[in-house]
Amino acid sequence: MGIETSLPADSILTTQLQRVINWARRSSVWPLPFATACCGIELMATAASRFDLARFGAEVVRFSPRQADLLIVAGRVSVKMLPVLQRIYMQMAEPKWVVSMGACASTGGVFDTYAVVQGIDQFIPVDVYIPGCPPRPEMLIEGIMTIQKTIDQDRIPRGPDGNRLPLNIAVQPNYEPRSQPAPLTIGLT
Ligand code: SF4
Repeated sequence: MGIETSLPADSILTTQLQRVINWARRSSVWPLPFATACCGIELMATAASRFDLARFGAEVVRFSPRQADLLIVAGRVSVKMLPVLQRIYMQMAEPKWVVSMGACASTGGVFDTYAVVQGIDQFIPVDVYIPGCPPRPEMLIEGIMTIQKTIDQDRIPRGPDGNRLPLNIAVQPNYEPRSQPAPLTIGLT
């Protein structure tokens, strides 16, 4: 990383083991995408070259819950699918994190029906809520960075019984939408 070139020769670096562990954990968050609908497309865009989730060390998408520590639920969850989501959550090892991406995952969105879960937080703990229909990739990145900061600062909340509590953080929109329709520039020479 170039650090060794700026340090004098024969120098040593000391730190706390816990800091190194936290640094390693926050720099290698591996997401498991539970993408069931259109929000999943934004999730894919976040990992692609334009937004480049690899800048935050979180691009190694795993489809095995045993290899992932960040569950991203992107899209509506039907009642029939709920046991699958719960099983995946339970199979992930601690410390694990959950992001509810988009209105559907957080509240059921416009699907106010008996067949759609009206908020996954009724059934699994949610750490970060990302609003929007769909949320932009920047907002998902903001949510992942929030989790990274929590890991880095060793602020994993625990209840009196020692069990981990959800962070319960809602991300605010962080972009300015452009006016529509955008002006045409092609073929007007
Ligand atoms: S929140 Fe909107 S974009 Fe996301 S899954 Fe629901 S309907 Fe699709």
